[in-house]
Amino acid sequence: MLDNQLNTPSQSPTSILPLINPPPPAPTVGRPEISTEDREIPTPTYDRLIIEAAKLDAASKYKSKFDYKIFKNLEMRYADKPIRGGIVKSNPLKLVNSHSSCQQCLYAFEIDTYGRGCMHNCTYCYAKAELTVHGYWNNPAPVPVNINEIRKIFYTVFETSKKSKWRAIMEQKIPLRIGCMSDSFMWIDAKYKLSQELLKILNFYQYPYTIITRSDLIAHDSYIPLIDKNLGSVQFSLSSINDPLNKLLEPGAASAERRLQALEKLVKSGIWTAVRINPMFPNFPDGYYSNPNFKWEGQIPTLNYSTLDIVDAVADTGCTAIIAGFGRFSSFSINNMNRALNRELRVFFNRAQIYKSSRDYHFSEPEIRHYYELYKKRCKENAVEFTVCYIGNGESEFWKHQDLWSNKKDCCNIKGKVCSFKTDSRSIGFNERLKFISKNSYTPVDSERLHIALGVEDQKKFKREIISTKGGPSGETSV
Ligand code: SF4
Repeated sequence: MLDNQLNTPSQSPTSILPLINPPPPAPTVGRPEISTEDREIPTPTYDRLIIEAAKLDAASKYKSKFDYKIFKNLEMRYADKPIRGGIVKSNPLKLVNSHSSCQQCLYAFEIDTYGRGCMHNCTYCYAKAELTVHGYWNNPAPVPVNINEIRKIFYTVFETSKKSKWRAIMEQKIPLRIGCMSDSFMWIDAKYKLSQELLKILNFYQYPYTIITRSDLIAHDSYIPLIDKNLGSVQFSLSSINDPLNKLLEPGAASAERRLQALEKLVKSGIWTAVRINPMFPNFPDGYYSNPNFKWEGQIPTLNYSTLDIVDAVADTGCTAIIAGFGRFSSFSINNMNRALNRELRVFFNRAQIYKSSRDYHFSEPEIRHYYELYKKRCKENAVEFTVCYIGNGESEFWKHQDLWSNKKDCCNIKGKVCSFKTDSRSIGFNERLKFISKNSYTPVDSERLHIALGVEDQKKFKREIISTKGGPSGETSV
């Protein structure tokens, strides 16, 4: 089967990275056993894509060599049991700014090359929680996006004067974040090559991008040359270097060992990299460090998952940037993690904190701050820069920890490192943003705040002004 082929070590396409901990087999649920050899199977979706591609090839300066056959194969494979929603996903681009947990994000302009699932299947995944409810998660497997949609948007904005809702954003070259509700560099991309095509398109139009991934595929020899050092950067998500626990909590993702090897290779190639310790997990129950009255009956539970030695391991690769984001988890995620670890993680959370939020389990602010300070200190000892990602934790978190940021201009720490990163999502005018927001999901904040330059005085001012915001679900960025 397609995905099994790509997730077994012996059949992974000419990997130069040692496959220490290969991803498990892809889910087989819903895979129809069909023989496509003896009959003609109509492929209307593929036929339509081919016609559109020919038109784009004729009109655009970007001449694609993308092999559309993957769509035909998918359509034929699932002909007898069509995939709900179709074999391709539309609307690859998003501007994520609909609630206070992501409105300040500097890289809220996003793209996914796969939809409706992710082979990494992380137990705590926000996207998994959202899509499982709707019956879409890996059902039967993540589907590729319509690559023509991406080609069309870039062609329209940069080669014509036709109307496009993306024009005001893209003409400013607001950097694009690759990886949101799925990982665009899952190993299936070695076969589908959609993310390879995306990188070629971005390079052609000289468009800045940052890749967020848990996959070592990005350091494969067929991917590294596609990352333009002046346009792109890579952020590896890595919560832990404890691989036995990684195997349980992120069953389909590359092991930490493989991710660190891939990271080192990218660093040596001169590509700007960072590691996202996100979600960061606590080691002890809430209040252990920050509450002077902390008491516990019996043995205090411990969790040796996110531990400070991750900083040393990252530093050993030559990577000099870490971005931390403390975990905030829905009940769905906690249940998944409990099942995977065969233990109860709810004991780590303080009930008073949990009920402050309408739906998520999270730690108290002083306790989170304590962890950030510990990591910042360890980073300093290793000459690694440190920043904090607030996504998923409410707007106030964006302002609170800026004093810890090594790069005061950029919590993702790309500005000043990758020369094409000159703007960010906060340059998108407030009225422009409203076009992408459904009124139902929008939590308004003061529009002026979106455009405030970061600085110590601003931080003080807004710390005073911040009213408790609703906060969003954990991890708007799931990758
Ligand atoms: S957290 Fe990211 S890598 Fe993990 S399953 Fe979700 S989308 Fe995939």
